[in-house]
Amino acid sequence: MNQIIIYGAGMIGRRYYDFFKSLHMEDIIYAYCDRNYKEIKSIGEVPVYSYDDLKNVGYPFVIALIEQEEVCVQLQNDAQTYYDSVESWIKNYQGNDNDPIRMCAVYRNMERKVNGGIENENRLDNLDKEIYASIPDLNLDKAVKIYGGICPCCKEKTLFIAYDHWLRDYYKCLFCGSIPRQRALMKVLEREMPNWKDMKIHESSPSGNILRIFKKQCAQYTYSYWYENEALGVELQNGGINENLENLTFENETFDIFITQDVLEHVNHPEKVLTEIARTLKKGGKHIFTTPLYPFKKTIPRIKMEGDKRELILPPIYHGNPISGEGSLVTYEWGGYDFLEMIDESTGMESKIVEFPNSKENFENGLEGDFLQVIVSTKV
Ligand SMILES: [Zn+2]
Repeated sequence: MNQIIIYGAGMIGRRYYDFFKSLHMEDIIYAYCDRNYKEIKSIGEVPVYSYDDLKNVGYPFVIALIEQEEVCVQLQNDAQTYYDSVESWIKNYQGNDNDPIRMCAVYRNMERKVNGGIENENRLDNLDKEIYASIPDLNLDKAVKIYGGICPCCKEKTLFIAYDHWLRDYYKCLFCGSIPRQRALMKVLEREMPNWKDMKIHESSPSGNILRIFKKQCAQYTYSYWYENEALGVELQNGGINENLENLTFENETFDIFITQDVLEHVNHPEKVLTEIARTLKKGGKHIFTTPLYPFKKTIPRIKMEGDKRELILPPIYHGNPISGEGSLVTYEWGGYDFLEMIDESTGMESKIVEFPNSKENFENGLEGDFLQVIVSTKV
């Protein structure tokens, strides 16, 4: 059986169509579904079908539109035909046994959310709008990697999709736009602090959709950026607080959790920063963070501080910065154990590195790419 009907000729139907075309399937019937199918047999070149039509022709089919609910029961009844025909293609393509119903659910939900944003803005709050506006486009011909699973950030059944081989920055969740290191951090957070939603969390220099997820899910989440020329401790226009990590304005033992994502490789005085973070954490509190680590190497400083003056030891390298187009200078390339030792010695906290090795579970959480380690320092 080499034919498949894409039932639903809208945007999502079109994506399905492209998907199967990208599997080099030529015999695809791409059909509209319409309540008026009895009168209207085709729209342009595209035929119009009903569910009964699909059954009668006996082809496997994919329900691509929100009409899925309407025919979901029948779909389940016919699941065997459907699976036998579709499953193997998807298997070949994705390299896992992700099921087509799951894909339907992904696209159906996406469609609903996207439509909610376009046709009925009131159905989405502002955070949702921001999140959905940054969902990556689905262009299967250009994807270098696709894998199905559950996203640790948005908890949705989703597809992870990359259009670039540098997965660390480009392997995104189709639902929330998260990238691997954010998913790794979220997974560690869930494991280390299962009640994080009820806790007092502070994050320094957050970026991307994970910031919106935290804002939505944790009432006591606050965040900060540092603008050198603004007063410390005041609220910024972007909703954050102006804070210098070397000199935080928070009281001792304020937070349960302190998060930094890819910040520690840019600071001038790491010991000072870590000491300040430790000071503002409650006993038992945790600094959960990511930074590019080279576990089998020794730390390489790229700068030297003479008082407040920064001197380059090695040629400058810059990373993206959420509040500056100029980027942030990389000040340290952190090694593994000497870094943990430095944290423990300067703060008295106990630290460990959490790794995400290649495994089915990690693949299904979209955890692939370089520098996926998460460091957890606990205040004892
Ligand atoms: Zn997600």
